[in-house]
Parts: sequence; C-alpha cells; structure tokens
Amino acid sequence: MFTSLSDRLSATFKNLRGKGRLSEADVDATIREIRRALLDADVALPVVRAFTGAVRERALSDEVSQALNPSQQVVKIVNDELVGILGGQTRRIQFAKRPPTVIMLAGLQGAGKTTLAGKLAHWLTSEGHRPMLVACDLQRPNAVNQLQIVGERAGAFVYAPEPGNGVGDPVKVARDAIEVAKTKLHDIVIVDTAGRLGIDEELMRQAADIRAAVNPDEVLFVIDAMIGQDAVTTAQAFNEGVDFTGVVLSKLDGDARGGAALSVASVTGKPIMFASTGEGLTDFETFHPDRMASRILD
Ligand code: GDP
Repeated sequence: MFTSLSDRLSATFKNLRGKGRLSEADVDATIREIRRALLDADVALPVVRAFTGAVRERALSDEVSQALNPSQQVVKIVNDELVGILGGQTRRIQFAKRPPTVIMLAGLQGAGKTTLAGKLAHWLTSEGHRPMLVACDLQRPNAVNQLQIVGERAGAFVYAPEPGNGVGDPVKVARDAIEVAKTKLHDIVIVDTAGRLGIDEELMRQAADIRAAVNPDEVLFVIDAMIGQDAVTTAQAFNEGVDFTGVVLSKLDGDARGGAALSVASVTGKPIMFASTGEGLTDFETFHPDRMASRILD
C-alpha cells in the first residue's frame, strides 16, 4: 500500500534537494508533481486541492525562504499537512464512564467488520476487559455463525438471537444484548451490524435505529482500503446515515493505491482510529497519523 505514492513523492523531493533557494517556479513545479502523485493514488480531488493549496502557501512563505535548508523545510510542510489530512492526533477509544462501553461497527458487506470485531475483542481482552460480541447482522444467513466462529477464536462471549427470539429484529437484539452485558458483567459490548454490497437506504435506517437504541460510545465505520474512489462516497453516506465517531481502514496489507482511504478522514472530518492489516486476530493497530505520514514520505 502507498508504495507508488511514496516513490513519486520521494522522486519529487529529490529534484529539490541541494537547491539553496526555491523560486516560485520551483515551488509550483513541486506542487504540480505532488498534485499528480496524489491524484494518481486516488486521493479525492477536494482533498488534493486543499492539500496542495496549503502546501503552496506555506512553501512560499518566510518559513521556507528563511530556512537553512529550504527543500527540507518543504518536506516538513508536506509531512505536517499529510498528518493533518489523516486526522492530526492519534484518537483512542472513549470508554464509557459507566460500563458497558458500547462500540458499534458499520460498513459495507465485506469491509471487514466481523473480522474487526474479533480483533477488537482479542485486543481488549488482553488489556484486561471483558468484551462481548453481539450479532446484529441478521440479513445474511451465515453472518451470526461467522461472528460465533470469530468470537470463539478471540475467546469472547457472543450474544446472538435464539431462534424465535428477536430473529429479524436487530434493534431488539442490540437492546437486549446491553442488558445481558450488564448482568454478565461484560464491560464492553461490540455490536456487529449488517452490511450490503452497496449503500442501501433500508440498511442505513437499520444501522441508525440500532445506534439510536443503544447510544454507542463509539461508532466505527470500517472501510476496505482496496475499494478506491468509492471510499469517499461510501464514507460520506455512512457519515450522514449513522454519524460515526471514527474510521477503521481495513486491508491496508493489500496493494491498493491507498489514496481514497487517505481521503476519508479529511472528507468526513472523523478520525481514523485503527488500521487492519490482515486476516489474523492480531493484524490490527492503533492508527497514528504522524507515523503513517512518515511511512508515506519515507
Ligand atoms: P464484513 O462483511 O464487513 O463483516 O467483512 P468480514 O470481516 O467478513 O471480512 C471480509 C473478508 O475480508 C474476509 O475474508 C476477511 O478475512 C477479509 N479481511 C478482513 N479484514 C482484512 C484485512 O485487514 N486484510 C485482509 N487481507 N483481509 C481482511
């Protein structure tokens, strides 16, 4: 992921290296290269515009003309602005003051929600919590079963509707699950919801209804980094539909160009909180905007 973007940006900076002073023409040539590299990596156009505008303005300011090493200063500016696009600060899970903390997962089918539920449960257990998983994806016949397998692997209790009890009503399942968590002393409830292949009003309404019923502390929108430009419209639709609190980029181990995923935080104004990097339970990390920017600019 990001190798092509990373290579293109380093090549651009190499052209600047050794220049004592940067003329406006040097800056503009650099901005043009950065713009092309970002667009070719699938970064959304409004994000590219805002980004290059901010870099240009700073690159032409005293900050650069008075720097000992102007080209290094430009790299630093690009780094700063990239950190900004990626959400700035590292954002961690907000735990409820009174347990259980409720974490709801939303996203398209195949995005990696169920896999993430297992990863979160595994990680939170290792941190001393007692998470419980809730199967609210009642659309796909196999989804409950899949969550049960994931839960077993992660060593977490899975709450799923009994046949005849709440089947077909994910809102009731979610609500009941919170009560069960309280009596069974689970301090974290992770609610897996249904996804569709495309954005779908009924699905969005259902997710919004679950959100309203259980008032989650976090709503994590899981997005497959491989889906390219569609990532932005999908993220916008989910942001309007369920007002998520954070983004999880999944499949960052793939070879997608990655730019669309990079646009999601900027376009929605919501932070990227986690990155998923494989199918295994531990292939997952807290997302640090500064580390990701350094990795891209390395
Ligand atoms: P859901 O429909 O959103 O619940 O998606 P799943 O969790 O079922 O994931 C869909 C597919 O993507 C499964 O085959 C997962 O093993 C795979 N998957 C999930 N996360 C990752 C990831 O970070 N990297 C890779 N390579 N595969 C993943």
